[in-house]
Amino acid sequence: MKVLNAITRLRHSRCRPERLLLLLPSCLQRSQCPQKVINGVSECRRCGRCRIKEMVELAEKYGCQCAVVTGGGLAIQLAKGEGVDAIVAVACEKELQAGLRAALPKPSLGVINVRPHGPCKDTDVDSAEVEQAIRWFLRGEELPAAATRGADGEGKAQQVARS
Ligand code: SF4
Repeated sequence: MKVLNAITRLRHSRCRPERLLLLLPSCLQRSQCPQKVINGVSECRRCGRCRIKEMVELAEKYGCQCAVVTGGGLAIQLAKGEGVDAIVAVACEKELQAGLRAALPKPSLGVINVRPHGPCKDTDVDSAEVEQAIRWFLRGEELPAAATRGADGEGKAQQVARS
């Protein structure tokens, strides 16, 4: 992870906003929410009870694409889409490692989610870290030092990058 991250930082891929995809796991949505955000993030009513609201607003702020997916297969399908040049993905370590590898040769950054209720339910993510990843692609801003470390723990939001 450290080596691949360092390589990516040296290459520093840039991307137009409309061609950057923010990929979110469906477990980020509040489990009791009735909205079908997997059909489109416009379904989110932005009540603020889960992190989806902030993610949708980040995508709007920067003008990038945003999708909520139920599994790695669909995530990879979207990531490989012709309208996508780069990906910022939120997921657990295992899903990120498989997904980012599958997205190659497209560059991608992963932000590890937080799982206070166990895996795959009512997960969370640090919005600031997602925004940093978006800005890295769009504006060339450096990632924080923490993002250059390898993934080393449950719930520790870090980023891994490939190009
Ligand atoms: S922020 Fe959106 S997805 Fe989350 S609970 Fe509210 S309506 Fe549902």
